[in-house]
Amino acid sequence: LDKAYSFMLRIRLPGGLATPKQWLETDRMADQFANGTIKLTTRQAFQLHGIIKTNLKRTIAEINEAAMDTIAACGDVNRNVMCNPNPHLSSVHEEVQRAAQAISDHLTPQTRAYHEIWLDGEKLASSEEEVEPIYGKTYLPRKFKITIAVPPSNDVDIFANDLSFIAIVENGGLVGYNVAVGGGFGMTHGNEATFPRLADVIGFCTPDQVVDVAEKVVLVQRDFGDRTDRKHARLKYTIEDRGVDWFKAELNKYLGYDLGEVRPYEFTDNGDRYGWTTDERGVHHFTLFVQGGRVVDDHGYPMRTGLREIAKVHQGDFRLTANQNLMIANVTDERRPEIEAMLEKYGMHRSHERSALRLASIACVALPTCGLALAEAERYLPDVITLLEEKLESFGLRHDAITIRMTGCPNGCGRPYVGEIAFIGRGPNRYNLYLGGGHAGDRLNKLYRQDLPADEIIDTLSPILERYAKERGEGEKFGDFVIRTGYVVATRQGSDFHAN
Ligand code: SF4
Repeated sequence: LDKAYSFMLRIRLPGGLATPKQWLETDRMADQFANGTIKLTTRQAFQLHGIIKTNLKRTIAEINEAAMDTIAACGDVNRNVMCNPNPHLSSVHEEVQRAAQAISDHLTPQTRAYHEIWLDGEKLASSEEEVEPIYGKTYLPRKFKITIAVPPSNDVDIFANDLSFIAIVENGGLVGYNVAVGGGFGMTHGNEATFPRLADVIGFCTPDQVVDVAEKVVLVQRDFGDRTDRKHARLKYTIEDRGVDWFKAELNKYLGYDLGEVRPYEFTDNGDRYGWTTDERGVHHFTLFVQGGRVVDDHGYPMRTGLREIAKVHQGDFRLTANQNLMIANVTDERRPEIEAMLEKYGMHRSHERSALRLASIACVALPTCGLALAEAERYLPDVITLLEEKLESFGLRHDAITIRMTGCPNGCGRPYVGEIAFIGRGPNRYNLYLGGGHAGDRLNKLYRQDLPADEIIDTLSPILERYAKERGEGEKFGDFVIRTGYVVATRQGSDFHAN
């Protein structure tokens, strides 16, 4: 008898786009093969947890039958390409979504091995000789992450990724993208040679250049990234070591043309817009708050059942946001009453009537299903927020969005290093507390308390929040306030992250 190994499967969805049929299939597989829940990840993907080894192959085959896959959802290749699901600018959004799909398609490994191993594909006689056209024989030094954002929303956290494109809209039309490189958040406790780093915005490209630029950035990293030390192998270290100017010059050589000058842009926040919105075509979208990204029937709130019933009648699509929430997108005037009635029936119409703090929260999976977790995150952050809400209510801060993020280890899956408040697990019931991230995800935070016991979190944060309520300037964000008042110093360079 083999041990009862269980696995996590990550289902790739470029741009976070899923059809109702794909939703229903994922929901079915969650019951049939996994632990009865669906995790919406911070990279706009589905995760199924608790799949036992004997069901693994069958689950992957059924994912494939639903026109989804797990190819490149892990490994030293380009991962799921994220993009802004913001429907307010529908024509631009459609172009951005197409660009995300095109980049994803172009950078997906061509190998047949996946099909041979998992889908019983016929082994090709020549497959051992195959060389990946982009990745070569040795693939990339490390994983690679790409996003596309549409300002003013930075809801995909572009500064946290190896490569990002910032859509530049002029006179209502997409004219191109600013190119940002060298972001990345993983680090290791006690190893100051590892640090989170924000991406640098290095130039501009036109829409027809975007796939080429993505490919060439990947190639520069393929050829110059550190293959001797996996903790130093991400693009952020290549750029940190060699300099941004070197990288840009090298990229221009690979491209055979120069990137244009960076165009003006502004991000105002990195959160989601909840509830109903209507785009310029008159089509409606409902963004549902999904705490911790966990789709589950729980505590008298049958969200998973409700979404299943909606998927059975919905004629638009679903869009996973990079903040672990879900958009029921492209609802016409005619269909909206039915969707509204179902949201109300299952209690989802009020999902966003929570404190602004809770709505701005992200938690990674952590315990019990992530083998790297040192502490709780998804199961614990809601309780921390509940306790903080009592304080916020009395301070008059219930409606102030403060980004709060918790991860079970420093790998950074919940992008904690730009949280205005962030907890990173050190061990059971102990966290490093970081403060001062940029509200738009544009500034790193700084260590405020090391090894803070979980039962001291509220007493540590309460006086700071109370002071913020009393002393903040007009429109001043919490992350800016803790820097102005000296709790932590502003941190923009990754190399300064560990400095006091
Ligand atoms: Fe696991 Fe760490 Fe990622 Fe959380 S941040 S999901 S604990 S690897």
